[in-house]
Amino acid sequence: MQILDGKALAQNIENKIQKEVEILNKQGITPGLAVILVGGDPASQSYVNMKAKACKRTGIYSITHEMPENIQQESLLQTIAMLNQNPNIDGILVQLPLPKHIDTTAVLEAIAPHKDVDGFHPFNMGRILANLDGFIPATPMGVITLLKHYHITLQGKNVVVVGASNIVGKPLGALFLNENATITLCHIYTQDLAKFTKEADILCVAVGKPNLITKDIVKENAVVVDIGISKLEDGRIVGDVDYPNVSPKCSFITPVPGGVGPMTIASLLQNTLKAAKLRPSKH
Ligand code: NAP
Repeated sequence: MQILDGKALAQNIENKIQKEVEILNKQGITPGLAVILVGGDPASQSYVNMKAKACKRTGIYSITHEMPENIQQESLLQTIAMLNQNPNIDGILVQLPLPKHIDTTAVLEAIAPHKDVDGFHPFNMGRILANLDGFIPATPMGVITLLKHYHITLQGKNVVVVGASNIVGKPLGALFLNENATITLCHIYTQDLAKFTKEADILCVAVGKPNLITKDIVKENAVVVDIGISKLEDGRIVGDVDYPNVSPKCSFITPVPGGVGPMTIASLLQNTLKAAKLRPSKH
């Protein structure tokens, strides 16, 4: 069994980004990321802090717009409109989830597609489905980058993705399809989940339920990518896979933490750099 070390790869990617940022700096460009955080959810705050720190490490300018939980949707949309116009901001990210009174779709659709570094705008989602260049959501992008780094063949493989959210499961399935894998997307209404997971050459799990994936439902020598993040009562961070029992059966597996999480941040930075390189002022 080999560990898919997302932490180490993310570090390599950050080093490369830092060098590319220095080159852009010489052309008078500092890539800029604006993050919008609504409310005080501690998990969201912690993710936003991690993103800001990663920007700092790589020389990307970042600014966080913190807004109160009871913010009116109109104010949020105005902030996005302002950021869309700001020539120093290349990427705009709205930390999800948003409070219930806010229409998340309307907010995501307000972001200019060329600044949509989270890749959640339907424009970019559509481009992924059509296998066209665009911004790919950071977590699915990080998963594919990690698998390719370890030279894991995707073409022709049976890939099962458990969890079908718009931000992780669905785009991840589309990316695997673009790599010529055969994909199965499982979700809460899937009958007999084990029937599918047992057939997976590559099993990706993005649900948020610790120990959902046990060793009896994983194929021998499977590649297992654990995307889930849950905080246990004792403070430990775990994924969706029963790691101690499943890992001996795998050819490759991601640890949690240290697998997909750091790759998500690295992919966001890559998207921000990409947006900066496409700045209109450069042409
Ligand atoms: P989400 O929107 O809650 O989606 C979870 C998906 O799993 C939904 O499709 C849900 O179906 C499905 N599901 C729930 N219970 C299931 C079950 N027993 N069997 C099969 N499918 C089931 O969550 P998300 O945003 O995609 O995130 C998923 C997990 O990944 C979370 O733990 C999150 O913290 C983690 N995550 C990690 C990273 C990272 O960087 N590592 C990034 C993003 C998310 P229904 O919607 O029908 O209930």
